[in-house]
Amino acid sequence: MKERIDALLAEIRNAAEQLKDEDTAEQFRIAYLSRKGGIAQLFEDLKGVPKEVKPEMGKALNILRQQTQAILDTAVENLRQSQKSSVAGLDVTLPGRAVSRGHKHIVSATIEEISDIFRRMGFSIADGPEIETDYYNFEALNFAADHPARDMQDTFFLSDSHLLRTHTTPVQVRLMEQYKPPIRAIFPGKVYRNEVISARSHVQFHQVDGLFVDKGVTFADLKGTLITFAKMYYGSSLKYRFRPSYFPFTEPSAEMDISCYLCGAKGCRVCKYTGWLEILGCGMVDPNVFSFVDVDPEEYSGYAFGIGIERTAMLRHGLDDIRLLFENDMRVNHQFN
Ligand SMILES: [Zn+2]
Repeated sequence: MKERIDALLAEIRNAAEQLKDEDTAEQFRIAYLSRKGGIAQLFEDLKGVPKEVKPEMGKALNILRQQTQAILDTAVENLRQSQKSSVAGLDVTLPGRAVSRGHKHIVSATIEEISDIFRRMGFSIADGPEIETDYYNFEALNFAADHPARDMQDTFFLSDSHLLRTHTTPVQVRLMEQYKPPIRAIFPGKVYRNEVISARSHVQFHQVDGLFVDKGVTFADLKGTLITFAKMYYGSSLKYRFRPSYFPFTEPSAEMDISCYLCGAKGCRVCKYTGWLEILGCGMVDPNVFSFVDVDPEEYSGYAFGIGIERTAMLRHGLDDIRLLFENDMRVNHQFN
């Protein structure tokens, strides 16, 4: 009996060397550890062994069974490990890595959407320099010499005569110098203000100004155009109102409000509980501005308007901090694609 146990152990050790996959491991288990396997057969034969050596043989057989199980477990574990490492990096079942797609920044998208609406109403797109002279930024737009907007607090002066434009309105002067009416154009672009950066203001932002000059242009034309714009951009069901205001380059001047669509005009934080949102400034071109560009105010009239791009984007998307538009946090940017 002892010899048979030793012989089987030798055979098992030899067979363990041949294990190379799950199939041979299963054959090994059946051959030695199953109920009809070699070890079970020896346990069966143990019944015929003389009484005095039976306990010893039984103990030896138990050890053999434990050893064999350990050999099999180790071999199977080794097989699993080697399979894993041999296919590392080649797992075709892994999901693919998503390619990050680019999209327009919310400021660019807002400029394009506004421009597209005015283009459909017959406006062309014009451009002008960001470094302006005092003449185009202030003087030709009828800002008096002591107007507070000329103050160092608001304007980045580059020299006595040059500055970073504080609005896109100077482009209207350049257009009227260059072309005879009729002129119908919008001019989107960057503007600069010497302000403390906060949730509400930034040193650089964007505006789109517009100008329409022709014979017989009236305030009714202004209202019709801007109401059409507001309904196309914010929704056709909104209410609107024009409030008297003041700009040096328009007379009369107005600000346009729309009913707050965020709260249904009931009053919320964004509309400061008034139910109204201010969306733009506008007015009829002041005859004094015409006098700078040799347009006869007896023959021609016109209207002008200005829209803040960031304010528009913030109202449209419910943002409460202008800095979100410039810090390029991709977690923010990706929400507006
Ligand atoms: Zn509201």
